[in-house]
Amino acid sequence: MFNPRFDNAFVRDVPGDAEHGPRLRQVEGALYSPVDPTPVAAPRVLAHSAEMAAALGFSEADIATSEFAQVFGGNALLDGMQPYAANYGGHQFGHWAGQLGDGRAISLGEVINAAGERWELQLKGAGLTPYSRGADGRAVLRSSVREFLCSEAMHHLGVPTTRALSLVDTGEPVLRDMFYDGHAKAEPGAIVCRVAPSFIRFGNFELPASRGDTALLRQLVDFTIRRDYPELHGQGETLYAEWFAQVCERTATMIAHWMRVGFVHGVMNTDNMSILGLTIDYGPYGWVDNYDPEWTPNTTDAQRRRYRYGQQPNVAWWNLSRLAGALAPLFAGIEPLQAGLDRYAATYAAADRANIAGKLGLAECRDDDVVLMQSLHTLMQQAEIDMTLWFRALADVDAQTPSLAIFQDAFYDETKRREAESALNDWLTQYVARLATDPQSAEQRRAGMRGANPRYVMRNYLAQQAIDRAEQGDASGIHELLEVMRHPYDDQPGRESFAEKRPDWARHKAGCSMLSCSS
Ligand code: AMP
Ligand code: MG
Repeated sequence: MFNPRFDNAFVRDVPGDAEHGPRLRQVEGALYSPVDPTPVAAPRVLAHSAEMAAALGFSEADIATSEFAQVFGGNALLDGMQPYAANYGGHQFGHWAGQLGDGRAISLGEVINAAGERWELQLKGAGLTPYSRGADGRAVLRSSVREFLCSEAMHHLGVPTTRALSLVDTGEPVLRDMFYDGHAKAEPGAIVCRVAPSFIRFGNFELPASRGDTALLRQLVDFTIRRDYPELHGQGETLYAEWFAQVCERTATMIAHWMRVGFVHGVMNTDNMSILGLTIDYGPYGWVDNYDPEWTPNTTDAQRRRYRYGQQPNVAWWNLSRLAGALAPLFAGIEPLQAGLDRYAATYAAADRANIAGKLGLAECRDDDVVLMQSLHTLMQQAEIDMTLWFRALADVDAQTPSLAIFQDAFYDETKRREAESALNDWLTQYVARLATDPQSAEQRRAGMRGANPRYVMRNYLAQQAIDRAEQGDASGIHELLEVMRHPYDDQPGRESFAEKRPDWARHKAGCSMLSCSS
């Protein structure tokens, strides 16, 4: 089997724990702990990403070898791998939580591929680490399928994200209390190999800062800039300030993509925020079906709804403020950090306007268009309209004789549809009047809208159907869904069923609408 070239900059260049192995402990003065994956009974590859495999240099034949299953199930290491768990903290649901760390993720090494790109490989569910905090270090099949599929789907949707190489069935059961009601049951275990240029999170900086270890904090900042932001030059505070502003920009761009496609992360704790502005840690995430800014997929957050869809831009700002607080010891005053946060606000505001223009098919977003979009959102919420189906159909509106008929599949509730009908017709009239002032040709507009408004998103119920089949030993549902999600902006004849709105049966079914953090 192909053995990639590794250049393990993180373990080489930043301080690590002197102790090797998974003994639970507070780890001070170190940014990671060396620890090996714990072997599993019978690793078997259930699915892989062809694009990611190719990028790393693995052939389809490599993936079919038993060695591949052994390595990506955690039973063997390739030459050059140096496994470790990262040490980080985080603010969870608004509160400082102290040391968290990779409790079940183990990084294997940093591949340098043929194109010179750096891709870190990380197994999620690979066993105990010093950061497992009383949990088992494992992951269940259902959450692993969700992470595997969604990270690839997000990539194809054009959303910055960590990637996934493989999904391996461990052949070992894992005990989980899915509803936190005292009824734990054995579920199949699995391991996803995640891939990203960097897995560093806001929480990696927060932890040394919280301990007053400014030297360690500075080492991590210098390392991150060197490895993950090589385009930045300069030194001292000026460099740090520009770097922080870049983190803010990238985060704003990511959030704007989430809002565009209707993705709700569900657990935007600062330990789940990537320093590269990548979507990371797919847990109880969800996709907006009927448009509702109040919606959260996460049952653990159902009361306060801190991480609801419409709140995500504000939460990202709050999380960046926590990062700014952690970085403050590296600055003489707070102005440069404030400037970075301002960059977040400006970048997000511009991206939000670009979303409005893109989703409505306008060459530019004027102030009036913001109002036009707001009034549409209000109507969509009141009338329970499917976000994805509505915007996709909007590209087909007839500017001469606009009609609601093209949206008939987008409604969830007939009574609410009837109540909103005349207001929606008024909105359409306003919309086509606005189109008349737009310089683009009808074809240009349609093409633009079909690039901004996906036909396929990975609705929770679709993932759940693939999971139900996988739990019965049939992985083909995962392959089908992955295949559909490789081209989310194309109409795919024969695959219309994957674009349907959430069926009634899925509205309140576990895994289809609401999810717990249990994974
Ligand atoms: P999450 O909410 O999934 O981002 O996880 C928060 C923290 O809990 C992280 O430090 C995880 O590594 C840890 N964690 C979650 N599930 C497990 C598990 N089954 N075993 C060990 N650690 C876990
Ligand atoms: Mg996490």
